[in-house]
Amino acid sequence: MSTPSLNQSEPCRSFIQLPLSEAMQSNLNALGYHELTPIQAQCLPEIINKKDVIAQAKTGSGKTATFGIGLLHSLKPQIFQTQALVICPTRELAEQVCNELRRLARAVPNTKIITLCGGKAMAGQLASLEKNPHIVVGTPGRLLQHLEKNTLDVSQLATLVLDEADRMLDMGFLNDIEQVIAKTPSSRQTLLFSATYPDDIKKVSRSVQKNPVDIKVESVHQETQIQQHFYALKTHSKEQALLAVLKHYQPTSAVVFCNRKQQCDDLTQFLGQNGISAKSLHGDLEQNDRDRVLVQFTNNSCRILVATDVAARGLDIKELPLVINMDLPHEPEVYLHRIGRTGRAGSVGTAVSLFEPADTPKVIAIENVSKQALPINDLSTLNAAQPFNSEATMVTLCINGGRKDKLRAGDILGALTAKQTIAGDAIGKIDRFDRLTYVAVDRAVRDQALKLLNNGKVKGRQFKARVVN
Ligand code: ADP
Ligand code: MG
Repeated sequence: MSTPSLNQSEPCRSFIQLPLSEAMQSNLNALGYHELTPIQAQCLPEIINKKDVIAQAKTGSGKTATFGIGLLHSLKPQIFQTQALVICPTRELAEQVCNELRRLARAVPNTKIITLCGGKAMAGQLASLEKNPHIVVGTPGRLLQHLEKNTLDVSQLATLVLDEADRMLDMGFLNDIEQVIAKTPSSRQTLLFSATYPDDIKKVSRSVQKNPVDIKVESVHQETQIQQHFYALKTHSKEQALLAVLKHYQPTSAVVFCNRKQQCDDLTQFLGQNGISAKSLHGDLEQNDRDRVLVQFTNNSCRILVATDVAARGLDIKELPLVINMDLPHEPEVYLHRIGRTGRAGSVGTAVSLFEPADTPKVIAIENVSKQALPINDLSTLNAAQPFNSEATMVTLCINGGRKDKLRAGDILGALTAKQTIAGDAIGKIDRFDRLTYVAVDRAVRDQALKLLNNGKVKGRQFKARVVN
């Protein structure tokens, strides 16, 4: 036998212990995936054995590859039918999942993977559906629209994945999801992933899964990775406390979590009035505005992001140094999820939480879930002597051409650096959308870059560029 068989009495540590194809093994190796993460080690043997699985693990624990490797394992690329469907809460998440699936699918030649999300033109989606994608990743509402129009056929589905199921329930997608699932064959394998495990998740699991294997990976963060500080507010307002926190910690970037959307806008305005530039991210923003804010934050041209939990989902920021909780969330798991955004990939992060004395029970609930005592500090211990300068190192330029104009990141990089007046390292992240592209440049070369883009040609064509504030 060329592939090892499963021995379930021993925990899997490395991918070579799994009966995956040689191509998949070498692709995983090329991706730098050698050891399985704990959730992968527990889920993959079950998924490969075609069991339904309900899995809970914190953000960043490798859930995407868990279902990705699983569904690719049973995919038959020679059959041109939709065999796997992944339902995600937001477009950003669906796109991240699609990207990861495409990387994993390099091992399975000719696999077609598409996204079907709201806020995108139907025409493009209809065209990609005509090519009979093997795998579809999408948001509930749009998937349902396609199913109702019969433009998406899931009658031959082998694997159904609900990713971030808790968030989808929070966002009120249950009804849509149930309608989507009703169109899939009952022979399917159903995999449900969630960062938290509220009661209604169990209800959904019972109604859509068959004897699911229940897998939980402890969501306790190691103390050495994330330093947690709780500040009880006595005389300070929360807003004043936030200023003190920023002055004390002087973060290069930070996400400030609020429980409500309006609070995000109010707080962003308050910071602006105090000379601190910040951007607000929440579900009431138009998709274009959300895209832009996410781009500005992730390309280092905005350092402070004020966000709700839902909006910050799927925000994959590497090395976020500071997370601030303006309020403690109602569920302790949400707290763990929020602070899990800092201190990732072995770097040390800081999580600061502001709370009023009346919210002390929430702190105790968090202590219970994280199984550690969390010291409560006084705001007067913060050193707020130095002002906080929020100016970012980068600035975002917007170019009026994108993917559909066949404008590639390399074209833009080439146009900016061809004359050697701007060094390559002064150019940051380049984010392309259908009809526009955002490029981050070092603040010092902003005017030069604008001139090069507006006066010169990119790929023989004239584009317009402007600064995004
Ligand atoms: P989750 O969905 O649990 O929040 P992701 O699936 O987004 O987490 O994974 C987080 C990161 O870990 C991604 O950058 C992914 O590429 C990486 N990753 C996943 N599995 C492995 C692995 N076995 N080895 C190394 N990195 C991995
Ligand atoms: Mg995920």
